[in-house]
Order: sequence, then structure tokens, then C-alpha cells
Amino acid sequence: MMGGGLKDIVADSLFEGEMKYREPMSRHTSLKIGGPADFFAVPANLPALARLIDYLGRNDIPILLLGAGTNILVRDGGITGAVVCLSSLRGIEAIKEDSEHIWLSVQAGTLLQSLVMHAKRHGYAGIEGLAGIPGTVGGAIRGNAGSFGYEIKDVITSIEVMDRQGKIEGLRAKDISFGYRTTNIPHAYVLLRSTMKLRKEKPSDISARVERFLAVKRERQPIWEPSAGCVFKNPEGLSAGKLIEEVGCKGMRRGDIVVSSIHANFFINAGEGCAADFIALMTEVTEKVRITCGINLEPEIQIVGRDRAKG
Ligand SMILES: Cc1cc2nc3c(=O)[nH]c(=O)nc-3n(C[C@H](O)[C@H](O)[C@H](O)COP(=O)(O)OP(=O)(O)OC[C@H]3O[C@@H](n4cnc5c(N)ncnc54)[C@H](O)[C@@H]3O)c2cc1C
Repeated sequence: MMGGGLKDIVADSLFEGEMKYREPMSRHTSLKIGGPADFFAVPANLPALARLIDYLGRNDIPILLLGAGTNILVRDGGITGAVVCLSSLRGIEAIKEDSEHIWLSVQAGTLLQSLVMHAKRHGYAGIEGLAGIPGTVGGAIRGNAGSFGYEIKDVITSIEVMDRQGKIEGLRAKDISFGYRTTNIPHAYVLLRSTMKLRKEKPSDISARVERFLAVKRERQPIWEPSAGCVFKNPEGLSAGKLIEEVGCKGMRRGDIVVSSIHANFFINAGEGCAADFIALMTEVTEKVRITCGINLEPEIQIVGRDRAKG
């Protein structure tokens, strides 16, 4: 039934965007891992997104929203239902300003680094610490991305979301609860855009901070290798990477998945790595840390999809 329904959408000449069946998710994740999505769509604009979301909702087809795939591990059996990628919805627009601040309206598919560089160029402060974090603004808001004491929540004044009927509504930041790599925005909502309030400052000061943060990342993280960033959340007051290193897991390997020797909270796909090995390595590392330190590490990455069928 689902296949037939999805074919209707593909046949719908009014849909604008890209659509694929059995699309390997390894093409859409920074880890380069993941089995095929039953259906993969990149709506070209808001009306196309609304029609698609409404259609999928009415037909009870599960939806996985995707930004740039830099924080997810897709299992080897792929994704049941539809992956809806927001990467076409890009844009940054100044909507208001006073002598000290600027308010930017930023679409969810905009790359976070385009926003950081835009702010750096124009002298808008508040997101310098997000320099070097890959992915989209939508993904960053979903997980309240942060680094160096900065979090994206600090600059958000409101967000616009689409519900599963394709209806758009606004949420004020003060009505949303943001935590460490989490928000209470319902998972059913598609994040469409956000208004952010940034401070006006001397571009050279902002630029210096951005460059300093980037230099630290380049030195301490294997940012050029396929990973999904930090695998585990930092336990309160501690560093997950340090704990993993202390229990001797640096360099540990399962198949082609390796605990980075540069930063132990990064697991690298060193070639043909698969999700099963990634998860097995996570379990092994978690067990070592639990037994040795009495601490339960919690995943920071999102693990989605189905296991590969046996046999
Ligand atoms: C090398 C490297 C370094 C990293 N460093 C950091 C760091 O310093 N700090 C940090 O916080 N993270 C870091 N990350 C993790 C990751 O980059 C961030 O979490 C990023 O914000 C995820 O954005 P994305 O677009 O890739 O999201 P995705 O991985 O595509 O999705 C993540 C989640 O957000 C949801 N989502 C995405 N877009 C939308 C939308 N428009 N509406 C609703 N839901 C949506 C998805 O369904 C999924 O649940 C790093 C990752 C890598 C690979």
C-alpha cells in the first residue's frame, strides 16, 4: 500500500523537488553509513513540503526529517517510510535591527556554517562558538547544538514549524524548553525557520573568536574523517571523551569503525564501516566505562532505522 501511495506522489506533477526510491542513506550521512530509505524526498519549496507532509501524514507513512545527516546513525536495513530532507529550504534574511542588535530570519535547511560565516562577515555576534559544527540550522535547533559554552538556543527568539497536516505555526523561544543537546519541540513538527537576535560588534573581534574556535576544533577533533561528531553526551561535569580514553578505548576497533585516536568520543568510519559494528562498539565502550567508572554514557547521536534482515 505504501509503495503505491508513494508512487502517487512521484506521479504528482505538482510536486517540485527530488524523489527517489530505495535511496542508500550512506549517501546522506556524514558517517557514510546507512541502508536504503524506502522513499527519499527533497522538496524544493514550502508548498511542495506541505503537500508531501500532509500526504504522508494522511497515509500513516512514517517520516524521518533530515538536515545534513551529521548527527545520525542509520541502521544497515535502512528506513521504513519516507525520509524528508530539508536541504533545499535555505536563506538568511535581516528582518529588523536597532543600534545594537539585528534580527535574522533563517531557514531550517541553511547550513549552520553559512550562518556563522554570514554573521562573521557582517559583524553579528552570539554564535561564534558554533563555528565548525556541520549540519543545518534545523538540525542544530532540534538538538540545541553547542560548543565552547555557546548554544544555538541563546540567540533564538522564535521558530516556525509545520505540523503533520502541513499547517504552519509560530512558537516563541520562551515557550520552548531547551536542554543539553535536546529540546521539547514535538518530533512531529518540521522546523521551517527561526528568528535569531544577534549583537552588533566589530567584525574583526568576531572573526578573531571564530578563527580561535576553529583552530581548537582542527587541533582536537578528527573533523576531516567520516563521523557523526560526539557519540555520547558528556555526563554532568565530566568529559565523555576523557572517560573513554581513561578506560583504554582509544583506537579500539570493530570492523571498520574505530574510536578516534585524536578524540575518543568520535567514532570514525575508516572505510566500509556499518551500523551494526558502530552500535557494537558503542555497547563495548559503554560497558567499559560503566564497569570501570560506574557511569552510564548516554548517546548524543540519534540512532534510527531498521536492522538488516538476517539470512
Ligand atoms: C565533525 C563533527 C563535529 C560536530 N561537532 C558538534 C559540536 O561541536 N556540537 C554539537 O552540538 N554538535 C556537533 N556535531 C553534531 C551535528 O553536527 C549537530 O548535531 C548538527 O546540528 C546536526 O545537524 P544536521 O542538519 O546534520 O541534523 P541531522 O543529523 O540531519 O538530524 C539530526 C536530528 O534533527 C532532526 N532534524 C533535522 N532537521 C530538522 C528539521 N528541519 N525539522 C525537524 N527536525 C529536524 C532529525 O530528524 C534528527 O532527529 C558534530 C558533527 C560532526 C560530524
